[in-house]
Amino acid sequence: MAISAEQLVADLKGFITPSYPKIDIRATPWEHDPNRLAIFFTDPQFSLIYPYQRWHYLTHLIPVDYQKEHLETSVWFELAPGEIPADLRYPDEELIQSITPDVIRCLNGARFFESLDDVLCPQTPDAERVRCWGDFRHSRPILLGRGFTEGEFFDVFHVLMMQGGFCDCEILYNAVEECRLKAEYWIARSEGRDPFDPHRGA
Ligand SMILES: [Zn+2]
Repeated sequence: MAISAEQLVADLKGFITPSYPKIDIRATPWEHDPNRLAIFFTDPQFSLIYPYQRWHYLTHLIPVDYQKEHLETSVWFELAPGEIPADLRYPDEELIQSITPDVIRCLNGARFFESLDDVLCPQTPDAERVRCWGDFRHSRPILLGRGFTEGEFFDVFHVLMMQGGFCDCEILYNAVEECRLKAEYWIARSEGRDPFDPHRGA
């Protein structure tokens, strides 16, 4: 059953505002095909993350059944304030897949994952731990310090996102076989304790 654009926006706000209180959502007929709805999501928190990450977070907040029923043909634009749809750059998934083994080899060679583990799960238990902010703010300086350039970040981070690494801690949980952060998680689980949550901090 088709619902009005107003109802759709109201529903989406209900799903998304608990996590993104400042989000602005608009829906209008898409200029390239008026039978489809263009939905514009604008949020200040989006300015630090890639459009692919923004989409990932939004899609996880909207129930799958609702997406199937009402959003299947819609076109989404996830914008930071001041951006326009033409600014959005999405990955070419085939290309990202083809470069993945070499990018991972470069990251391993630069000992990037060990360094990120040192930051998020220091070897000395008493050392202060940083929290994960749901973005790549800890990875970026490590990469720059290992000779990667800003121009390479798009490829590097999209390779990591396609392995499930949508933020600093998820890189370690999902894109790396072995690291202290992941080991610590499973030790806590096996002992019946709540694992440390990097998104909350110590
Ligand atoms: Zn994280």
